[in-house]
Amino acid sequence: MSSPPILKLALPVPLYRYFEYRLPAQPTFGDIRIGVRARVPFGNQTLVGIVVGKHRSPSLPPGKLKAVLEILDDEPVFDPVLQKVLFWTASYYQQPPGEVFSAALPGVLRKNRRITAATCTIYRACTDQAGGQVLHNAPKQHQVLELIQSHPGGLSSGEMNARMTHWRPAVRALIGKGLVEEIIREQTMARTPNTRAQPLILNQEQQHAYEQICRNMQEFGTYLLAGVTGSGKTEVYLALAKDVIHHGRQVLILVPEIGLTPQLVRRIETRLNVPVARMHSDLNAGERAQAWLQASTGKADIVVGTRSAVFLSFKNLGLIVVDEEHDLSFKQQDGLLYNARDVAIYRAKQLSVPVVLGSATPSLESQHNVHRSHYQRIVLSKRAKRAKIPQVKLIDLRSKPVTDGLSSELIQAIDAELMNRHQVLLFLNRRGYAPFLLCHECAWTAECSRCNAHMVFYKKQNILKCHHCLNQEQVPAACPQCNSENILFLGEGTQRIEDRLKEIFPNTAMARIDRDSTRGKNTLQDRLDDIRKGKYQIIIGTQMLTKGHDFPNVTLVGILNVDHGLLSSDFRATEHLAQLIVQVSGRAGRSLHKGKVLLQTHQPEHPLLNCLLTRGYREFSEEVLKQRESCGLPPYTFMLLIRARAHQQDLTYRFLQDVKSSMLCAGASGLNLFGPIPANLERKAGMYQSLVVAIASSRNARQKHWAELIQQHPLAKRVRWTIEVDPLETG
Ligand code: ADP
Ligand code: ZN
Ligand code: ZN
Repeated sequence: MSSPPILKLALPVPLYRYFEYRLPAQPTFGDIRIGVRARVPFGNQTLVGIVVGKHRSPSLPPGKLKAVLEILDDEPVFDPVLQKVLFWTASYYQQPPGEVFSAALPGVLRKNRRITAATCTIYRACTDQAGGQVLHNAPKQHQVLELIQSHPGGLSSGEMNARMTHWRPAVRALIGKGLVEEIIREQTMARTPNTRAQPLILNQEQQHAYEQICRNMQEFGTYLLAGVTGSGKTEVYLALAKDVIHHGRQVLILVPEIGLTPQLVRRIETRLNVPVARMHSDLNAGERAQAWLQASTGKADIVVGTRSAVFLSFKNLGLIVVDEEHDLSFKQQDGLLYNARDVAIYRAKQLSVPVVLGSATPSLESQHNVHRSHYQRIVLSKRAKRAKIPQVKLIDLRSKPVTDGLSSELIQAIDAELMNRHQVLLFLNRRGYAPFLLCHECAWTAECSRCNAHMVFYKKQNILKCHHCLNQEQVPAACPQCNSENILFLGEGTQRIEDRLKEIFPNTAMARIDRDSTRGKNTLQDRLDDIRKGKYQIIIGTQMLTKGHDFPNVTLVGILNVDHGLLSSDFRATEHLAQLIVQVSGRAGRSLHKGKVLLQTHQPEHPLLNCLLTRGYREFSEEVLKQRESCGLPPYTFMLLIRARAHQQDLTYRFLQDVKSSMLCAGASGLNLFGPIPANLERKAGMYQSLVVAIASSRNARQKHWAELIQQHPLAKRVRWTIEVDPLETG
């Protein structure tokens, strides 16, 4: 008899390897499929891992291998294509494979548990005889029985609740008397009944886009749908989705943030009337588990999700859409470092299905890929409704009177729009009241004691907060350095702008949208709904407001201060700034009324800003691409960052210096290594942060598995280090 196979497992530990386990002789395990979960001993704990391979040639004598404790599934939790995607993710992004596999599972499956479909209870009458006689002493029961009898299909608890209060004791009694029965049923996915909206007729450009993609539904292709804001990209996704669903397949739509999912889900449900699942970080464990089940069993025709939804299991995925593909939030910033857009492209390729990247401001990477004929560009050049793309006008702030960040020209423009009962949107990427505290006598500034960063002043709570760690401090009554009471609160955050505007426009309803004002589940959603309903006339917000939101009555957008984007040291800063300006501007004039955008700046002559505003985003990006090429920067080269964090800066340097030397020894030919240098935020939450930047002329030159090498380094256990492939922020 041949010995049982050795199982290769991905375990959720921060190590860059797979693990081998043997199967115990007894009891027999039957045929174990790749992709099932197994519970195994690991050190002095037990872990749930994924079986990713089986073989008969262990690297250790089988006697030395530990035995699997339990196999948790009959059916794999990942289909073979998704397994391949996870292998690739771990390898391309140089991340611990077990953590990649684990991240692809809902929390429930990471533990020793299973997901069962959500059920609901249905109450159905066992008799159609009137109950008046039997129940003459129990009027409530009589009433309940009549209600249930009037619905021959039965009523769920929710439906009962909607029709009657305090019905439960009566139902219990009726069940006891054998007049009503209780049936447990699998919950069906909610659909929006009877609201099926009329499909829009695609305009010529949309139709062309739709046909071009539709023609090649059975094969892989990456389409860059470059459509100006409001050009109806979403309508193209919907038309394609309808087709895919018609052929019995599913659609995954990735969106950059949670705030966009309910809006899109509603739009899909009313239009296509199909079951849609949502997947994002605001869901609780049960909701995530159900979403996972709906996608993997094929119950959901469409899944709308943020970044991590790219790892969901599907029964039959036929199309992937990445909306706002340029958005930085597709790149995970901590924990697992991967780019969901790029994983989506790889997944589509393995599935031989199309992937559509939509954006009004495509990333330079994607445009470069169009130039190299890797992606196909499809353009939507006009807004779908009558509205025109608004022109951006600069307000030169130099030597003009500005109070609390608002120029008089902007205030007049706001006034004019309010008179017309239109909405005004003001963008400022800084929350809090004032970002600096400065002593007027000795120039002391309030710095966070744990970070290299200014403390932000919150006026209402009269407190200082650090936006990089959770640190909060009292506002000093006098300067801690010279005891002067002459302390200035400098600069503007969204709260200061709101206060100032309330003084100027006392009778105007205002909404502030930033991370401080939208904590709590659904708060953001409710606020956005209220804006759309016209409850607020002035909306002040940060980045959260820029993405995809459609506020039809906004006619004026004011961009208060983006100059720091022009001065930043990050080589991508101008690209991100241009995307921001175009996206924020795109919130203006989306409906019948003409829109207007005013941008306040101290740098009205900045060449790139002028290029963007006079010649448009596409020409701007061609300019920036030329610069990147001449400087040897991505997308013409390939980058990798190694970051180290420790309580002593010296330790981070020593570690990175050694890592750099060993990389050079290991034959990092074709790889230019820079650093170690301190990160932009040199110290965060008490830890020093430093980095080494590696730039390669080809992907292959970079792709050696450096993490394995770094892991073996003697100092690797004393610093916290990460490796980031294709970083989007290099600070
Ligand atoms: P995008 O996703 O490009 O920002 P949307 O798909 O949200 O644009 O469309 C913007 C607006 O134009 C929406 O209100 C949408 O209903 C409308 N719209 C899109 N396509 C059409 C069309 N073919 N006919 C009429 N209205 C359209
Ligand atoms: Zn002082
Ligand atoms: Zn801090």
